[in-house]
Amino acid sequence: MGYKGKAVVCRVPNEPVSVEEIEVDSPGPNQVTIQMEAAGVCHSDLSATNLTMPLPLPIVLGHEACGKVVEVGEGVTGYAVGDKIIPCWIPICGQCSFCQEGRTTLCDDWAKGFVGPKDGTMPRRDAGGNTLNAFSGVGVMAEYSTMHVDNLIKIDPDTPSDKAALVGCGVMTGVGAAVNRAKVTPGSSCVVIGAGGVGLNVIQGCAVAGAETIIAVDMVDKKLEFAQTFGATHTINPSTDGDVVGKVKELTGGRGADFAFEAIGLGETIVQAYQATRKGGTSVNIGVPRMDAMANFPAAMMWMEEKAILGSAYGSGAPKTDIPKLIKLYQRGRLKLDELITQTYSIDEAARAFDDLEKGVNARGVILF
Ligand SMILES: [Zn+2]
Ligand SMILES: [Zn+2]
Repeated sequence: MGYKGKAVVCRVPNEPVSVEEIEVDSPGPNQVTIQMEAAGVCHSDLSATNLTMPLPLPIVLGHEACGKVVEVGEGVTGYAVGDKIIPCWIPICGQCSFCQEGRTTLCDDWAKGFVGPKDGTMPRRDAGGNTLNAFSGVGVMAEYSTMHVDNLIKIDPDTPSDKAALVGCGVMTGVGAAVNRAKVTPGSSCVVIGAGGVGLNVIQGCAVAGAETIIAVDMVDKKLEFAQTFGATHTINPSTDGDVVGKVKELTGGRGADFAFEAIGLGETIVQAYQATRKGGTSVNIGVPRMDAMANFPAAMMWMEEKAILGSAYGSGAPKTDIPKLIKLYQRGRLKLDELITQTYSIDEAARAFDDLEKGVNARGVILF
């Protein structure tokens, strides 16, 4: 047995994605099959199509979604048919030293689950019977996905699926970078370079943490408008406002920001975030650069100014417990998810969704199944 359904596939780099009928195996031991209800179109999916993230092709895209369990494999405990799930794009083993220390986004099993379930099985095939890879081992831009049980996060069944989907990557990554990694403090000043899907959530993470000044930086005015909805108090468009570092200093009494975030993934803007950070402040890199990208820091300033440079992946915390907490925050009106979705698409419109993402017209676009 197995499942047949549509999936968004990347076969050729820099070409439009295709929507194909694929076959997905029923769950093996310690696996579960999810029927998707909504999937976000995240910038990392675009990065797979242009090889910024050099994943093997052909690949079923998608790593940010919400769906329901339709079948559980042998040995699965704690999950049943009908459970509402957000797939976690890192399989969290719960046993390795990092998991034991609560840093589950650094789980040693991460690398085992890049293109399929972490047990090494490959449950997807195209119409010609050829094996397909799956983004982050979950490939959720598809009607059905079979994944390892360690990729599952069970959530409140009453959460609307389109909103919940976004918590699975963008919201967790952005809010977590502010709250878990930078540990933004009440009354502080923050600058966020890049107001895309993740950047907007860094901004709302800073707002939730009580930051007083939140400066959004982006080349697209529309994104700066979105940024204000999520809590930005000031905006800078480098193409019209000029020098970012100088402007940030101007807006922070000449000091620089207490916390600076880079959510684009370019060496140049990573250095810009560092330079916009005040003495003794914290600079966090969240954007995903090309594998060969370098960032050149003014080395002599590092000891003199005592700035911290941190990296952050997937919110630097424990998604299995953090994601249900973020959904509670939403239910209590303290986290904005409705405002994130500015466009929805059917799976057949996937190529347009990617095109819109590249053009930056949406806060977030979501595929509904
Ligand atoms: Zn682990
Ligand atoms: Zn993502």
